[in-house]
Amino acid sequence: MAERALDESISEKSPKSLEELCEKIRVFYPNADLSIIEKAYTISEKAHEGQIRRSGEPYISHPLGVAAILADLHLDLATIATGLLHDTVEDTHLTLQDIEREFGKPIAELVDGVTKISKIKFRNTHEKQGENIRKMIVAMGKDVRVVLVKIADRLHNMRTLNHMAPDKQARIAQETLDIYAPLASRLGMNSVKIELEDLSFRYSRPDAYYGLAQKIAKKKKDREKYIEDTQKLLEKELTARTKIKYEVFGRPKHLYSIYKKMTSRNLEYEQVNDVLAFRALVGTVPECYEVLGHVHALWKPIPGRFKDFIAMPKVNNYQSLHTTVVGPGGERIEIQIRTREMHLIAEKGVAAHWKYKEGGKVAADSEQKFEWLRDLVSLHQQLRNPDEFLETIKSDLFDTEIYVFTPKGEVRELPDGATPIDFAFAVHTDVGTHCAAARVNGKLMPLKTRLASGDTIEIITSTHQQPSKDWLKFVVTTRAKSKIRAFVKNEERKRAFGIGKELLEKEFRKFGMSLTKALSEKNPNLAEIVRSLGANDVDDLCVLVGYGKVTGKTVVEAFAPGSKPVEQEEKKTFIQKVFQSALTRGRKSKSIIKVDGMDDMLVRFGRCCNPIPGDPIVGFITRGRGITIHRADCEKAFEVDQDRRIDVEWAVDSAPDGVERVVRVRVISQDIPGLLKHMSEAFATRGINIHNAKIHTTKDKKAICVFDVSVKDTSQLSQVMQDLQKINGIIGVARVSHA
Ligand code: MN
Repeated sequence: MAERALDESISEKSPKSLEELCEKIRVFYPNADLSIIEKAYTISEKAHEGQIRRSGEPYISHPLGVAAILADLHLDLATIATGLLHDTVEDTHLTLQDIEREFGKPIAELVDGVTKISKIKFRNTHEKQGENIRKMIVAMGKDVRVVLVKIADRLHNMRTLNHMAPDKQARIAQETLDIYAPLASRLGMNSVKIELEDLSFRYSRPDAYYGLAQKIAKKKKDREKYIEDTQKLLEKELTARTKIKYEVFGRPKHLYSIYKKMTSRNLEYEQVNDVLAFRALVGTVPECYEVLGHVHALWKPIPGRFKDFIAMPKVNNYQSLHTTVVGPGGERIEIQIRTREMHLIAEKGVAAHWKYKEGGKVAADSEQKFEWLRDLVSLHQQLRNPDEFLETIKSDLFDTEIYVFTPKGEVRELPDGATPIDFAFAVHTDVGTHCAAARVNGKLMPLKTRLASGDTIEIITSTHQQPSKDWLKFVVTTRAKSKIRAFVKNEERKRAFGIGKELLEKEFRKFGMSLTKALSEKNPNLAEIVRSLGANDVDDLCVLVGYGKVTGKTVVEAFAPGSKPVEQEEKKTFIQKVFQSALTRGRKSKSIIKVDGMDDMLVRFGRCCNPIPGDPIVGFITRGRGITIHRADCEKAFEVDQDRRIDVEWAVDSAPDGVERVVRVRVISQDIPGLLKHMSEAFATRGINIHNAKIHTTKDKKAICVFDVSVKDTSQLSQVMQDLQKINGIIGVARVSHA
């Protein structure tokens, strides 16, 4: 069968015995004491005794396989031992205490971490990817080796997946594509990622997989010949012209990467033209560039495909030169050039950092190289909402990167779509927080500019600048988003506190009481009352009132039940009427203004400009009177202290019945009899009430009429103004301020 023949390429690399595993380890730790490995094997084998895998093999074959994968990654002995023990706590009578007693705390902690990850119920849909990865990061805690064991566990399960039922195969394969392959990729473990992807591809879309594998197999002879010829050409060139010691390899790219290219560009296999990749390994960095020169002399490079990850390593420490050239026969081929050491890191990623440590000890700095991981761990503590988390890490996990420069020439790696703000936060939190402007390649550019690889960015800071909510609309990095969000939340809370406190003071005064006294610590019932109102403490209570979650009246009632206002109620402002009518109708939330996204705030309108629904508006906090709303272009709005400025927006498109807003309209016309009647008809037709009209004439035979009229919104106003404009004899119509 063709399928079986193809499947043979998926090698079962697992050792069959402890001795084979130890041989693997001795290759890279020739003199190591492997007694801990032997002990782990013995204890695990005994614990799993009687358990059989679906393949019919004894269970120990699985932990042994996992340990062998970890050994192939040249990980330390503790991690390999954890591979042997990883299922004992969950699946056997052994407890964590047993493990700790036998193997010590570090191994027990690793086993515990892996057990926790195993208990995670992953959600199956693509949208929940972020949540799944978040759970994994949480369980991992601080030790990345936990995830390495889990990835090895998954890889072995994928290698032996053919023993599972088809529906389970598809589900597990999809989960691997969604979670484990991206994680392995982000951890820089290229060889593991490729194997996971191809295995997942085979089980999740078997038809596509076998179809493609067959097409590739058909051309196997031609391809091998092509690879050999091309390799020889390059070797000849390098041997003739340099003294470099090199190795050159050619191979087809892995199936899943070809399949992705086909589906994303809607191509047939025959149309995908760069399916071959060559790799040259050399000793030093200068040799890399030398080889690159010879490659480009031999074959024409394709513009825009050259990438220098040596000068600008990826976040996961990947280094290499990449170029795509038009090779022999006009075929596009990709060539990667790197040192042997870079190659090791490229294949094993984070795992490579344990390789050179003697006696299997982990150097403390290993994880610091993976700042990305640490950022994730701290982020999960900030964001409880999985969707928010997904949003925040998405670009970090799955998007391509750009490389930009600081004015000093240092390189920063950012996700595609990053802006100067992302850059500023990548440099330093303080730089981000006070980022006022940015020069991109020497030119002042808006803060939301999308940066491109090669840009040099200079951030101009100002002590007065603060992060704005608007920044969240365009920043893309985890770091920038979480810092801005934290700042905005804190600011909103502070603002709500100030507003809430003022509202309470006013409310208490109205009832002849003092807020200070009520909230004094001498009040024996204070804590209880505060709690009864749903607040944690006095500050929290003010915040709740500021956010409009608790009304001042409720608070007064809680402190002094049954109390009555002492003075006559003040003349009601327009907005209070709105509140009152809404309240009596039980629709408290239907305020017509939203303050910073909150409604239910005490607001009043500036008499100077009389905003109506539809006008662009701004708000200012006014001592003791809540918030005053002005039109955004009102002169008063520019006079007020800008620190008191607050974001407001209309909560309604149009004023509710009975609460129309009064505006002043000035009409200049020829002084002709009968015009006034037409004008008042224009208002009446639109259902607009005239409160007041003043008319005077000028020496040059013009009439100036000033109407105070009630309207619901800007659109009603502009309609009637257009109607007026059309009347014969009218020269100009304008909305004017009352003052
Ligand atoms: Mn397992």
